[in-house]
Amino acid sequence: MNDTPLWHNLSDKDCFSTLETQRHGLSQPSAQQRLQQTGPNCLPTPPKQGPITRLLRQFHNILIYIMLASAVVTAFLGHWVDCGVILGAVLVNVLIGFIQEGKAEAALESIRNMLTSHATVLRDGQRQEIDARHLVPGDVVLLSSGDKVPADLRLFQVHNLRIEEAALTGESLAVEKSIEPVADEAPLGDRYCMAYSGTLVVYGQARGLVVATGSQTELGKINSLLANVQVLSTPLLRQIDRFGRWLAVIILLLVAATFALGTFWRGNDAAEMFIMSVALTASAIPEGLPAIITIMLALGVQQMAKQRAIVRRLPAVETLGSVTVICTDKTGTLTRNEMTVQRVIVSESSYEVTGIGYLPMGNFVTHQQTVVPDQQPPLTDLCRAALICNDGRLFEQHQQWCVEGDPTEGALLTLARKGGLSPETEAQLWPRLDSIPFESEHRFMATLNGTKQVRRIFLKGAPERILELCSHQRTLCGQQILEPDYWRRMATDTAARGLRLLAIAEKSVTSDQDSLAFSDIESGDFTLLGLVGIIDPPREEAIQAVKECHTAGIQVKMITGDHAETARAIGAQLGIGQGKPVLTGAEISVMDDAKLRQVVMEVDVFARASPEHKLRLVEAMQACHQVVAMTGDGVNDAPALKRADVGIAMGHKGTEAAKEAADIVLVDDNFSTISNAVREGRAIYDNLKKSILFILPTNGGQAIIVIAAILFELALPLTPVQVLWVNMVTACTLALALAAEPIERGIMHRPPRPPSEPILTGFFIWRVVMVSLLMTLGSLGLFLWELHIGTSLEVARTMAVNVIVVGEMFYLFSSRYLVASVLNWQGLLGNRWVLICVGACTLLQVLYTYHPTLQQLFGSTALSGWAWLQIILAGSLTLLGSELEKWQLRRRKVSV
Ligand code: ATP
Repeated sequence: MNDTPLWHNLSDKDCFSTLETQRHGLSQPSAQQRLQQTGPNCLPTPPKQGPITRLLRQFHNILIYIMLASAVVTAFLGHWVDCGVILGAVLVNVLIGFIQEGKAEAALESIRNMLTSHATVLRDGQRQEIDARHLVPGDVVLLSSGDKVPADLRLFQVHNLRIEEAALTGESLAVEKSIEPVADEAPLGDRYCMAYSGTLVVYGQARGLVVATGSQTELGKINSLLANVQVLSTPLLRQIDRFGRWLAVIILLLVAATFALGTFWRGNDAAEMFIMSVALTASAIPEGLPAIITIMLALGVQQMAKQRAIVRRLPAVETLGSVTVICTDKTGTLTRNEMTVQRVIVSESSYEVTGIGYLPMGNFVTHQQTVVPDQQPPLTDLCRAALICNDGRLFEQHQQWCVEGDPTEGALLTLARKGGLSPETEAQLWPRLDSIPFESEHRFMATLNGTKQVRRIFLKGAPERILELCSHQRTLCGQQILEPDYWRRMATDTAARGLRLLAIAEKSVTSDQDSLAFSDIESGDFTLLGLVGIIDPPREEAIQAVKECHTAGIQVKMITGDHAETARAIGAQLGIGQGKPVLTGAEISVMDDAKLRQVVMEVDVFARASPEHKLRLVEAMQACHQVVAMTGDGVNDAPALKRADVGIAMGHKGTEAAKEAADIVLVDDNFSTISNAVREGRAIYDNLKKSILFILPTNGGQAIIVIAAILFELALPLTPVQVLWVNMVTACTLALALAAEPIERGIMHRPPRPPSEPILTGFFIWRVVMVSLLMTLGSLGLFLWELHIGTSLEVARTMAVNVIVVGEMFYLFSSRYLVASVLNWQGLLGNRWVLICVGACTLLQVLYTYHPTLQQLFGSTALSGWAWLQIILAGSLTLLGSELEKWQLRRRKVSV
């Protein structure tokens, strides 16, 4: 094999012979062998930052700079203990940052590979879906609209193929493709017979020969596609970052003022005050906050992936919590997508079809009589058309009948078999010459089939669409003029039972016609063979999920391409849109934006809607101040998915184009996954709030204690090294526990969070001040009291340090719930991590109090049982105070 022929300049024949392959594809063994030679079809991942770089990056932080500078100063002053403790604190901060960032990256990495692309290939002449990484040069790939081109292809068969090559050429206008070779010097954008890896098929179908894979592709050469890389940043994170920076400046100013006051006004030792200022800075700045938020988001994203919702863009996690409307597709998302034809209507009779699922066993029953299908020519004709105008494949595997392709078409294949037809025989009698595939825009599929003698166009699609193309209807003795009223009545009647409707028609054409164009369909004059009604039962879990969304104050709207009556009936079964009108795509089309805005919130079921309606609906809802999550699967859904606040693509039946436009991909296409993701999104946001509410007051408390002591000329309750100790202990243990906080009960009983709500509300500031003051009261109060009754400074300080840490532990319990009480078993013991962290923290405090080395380092000393009791009582003030406040909130029914 030659490595770099100019494929675009070669005829397709030459390409096949160069690559030693055929139009029906490679054989499986030869594909495998080639895979070993060429390696997988993927781009090399960008080099990751090594652990050392990551560790060093943790030092790049204003607080760490300050601490390092102070360590140097203290060393010069000869305060070796202080210097050592400051360096210890630096190390702890850096290590925590390093470990957390590593965990966050690992969490994101683990989901990065969950979104693998697939490719449809011909191998051994059989159509197969394979992992796109297994493509090799010489494979024959089938493209259809919505696909991402999986490798560089030389096209050899195209059908209205249009490809958007922005990923490669920057040109966002789709390019019409052909199969003719082009000049060897043609630039990439003009190589019309090529489809390049990473570009998107926006329309049509094609077959192409793989000429390059992996890094050999044009995309691989420019090595630009890092589309899957998540950036660890969200609006909230940026908000916190900004807030953190402001806070740092304020704290630095405060500390500078404290230093000046302490030294010049109170006459304290300047070196001592300097070290105190450093300790104060370290303890007051919530330096751990961004790291904790990052890891919470990353863990949340991992959790969602476990529940089959893959987050492609992190900010979506936050937005999910404030979603007020979920607009969802019907088929496969709210319903099971396990289709069975239950009713067939021809011009003179209608049949109920027995049997469930794809198993091709069942009868046709009319007026309680089972009929023999081949004695009913109109029925057989309908079954034949349903079989021929079909891209699906029905096969038996492990004693189960399965479908490859569209389940609607699978149901028709089963119907045809029940009607006694054999796919192989019919394929021989009616070989396919051309086809127009199904698209939601035109809602029909057509094929041209036949031999040299007879040729026919078979057509199937939405009844309204097909009826307008028919002039006649098939009868027992031939055909007669169409009776549209009869068919409309039958269609409405069938749809009202919740059945999905399809009309099937045919028309003879001249025996020299060998291709199919839209004009052949639009010229009409078809003969209607009949209607089929397909059942697609709702998913049980979707019914539950819709209910859950309603209690969570989220409206669920169904936007479907299906018939209005079918949509209404299925909606009623799911609890969507009961007692409300159904709006159709046609009605939406004639409304202007203002009118649409007026009605959009009054309607829950939108039927016969096309992707462009979806976009208008999202815009109208957003204009009504709604936060909209929208599902989609087709290439034309991409604009609506991008426009929605949370775009959700179907992982299973969704096209690559939809997935790329979406924020979240549902692995299982299931509506209940969306409501789970909303719940998870709300929980993550809750946990973020809880962590902030925990960290800010604990930092604030320590700072106020020291500043108050200096200002009021009191004995210092904590020495600088003791302040650093408290900071290290609590940063290592307590602050981490809330990241693993389980979802609060009743989270889906609250209304959605207003999107504009700032994270630092008045309530937050009040809570921070209150808890800081309670900590000050407990610690400083007990310290001063002890001094007053003649306890030694050493003991009083050891007690003060312990009160702060114990107070933080108590407050940690209270922080588990924002409003609910934690004074119950679940509240106190429900989060294992809280218990572990409190245990670890207690151990460290015991060591601090009793271990001789630590006593020497930090000036602590052993305490009596009575002292401990006082510590616990003083520490519990934080818990009691915040629980009392929550009780007040609950009483006044205030939500936070
Ligand atoms: P949703 O948007 O909720 O998934 P849907 O799957 O019913 O709804 P479409 O796939 O756009 O929406 O289908 C719309 C209509 O087109 C169907 O009601 C049916 O009449 C017709 N239809 C669906 N699939 C095919 C097909 N493969 N061939 C021909 N017609 C089809």
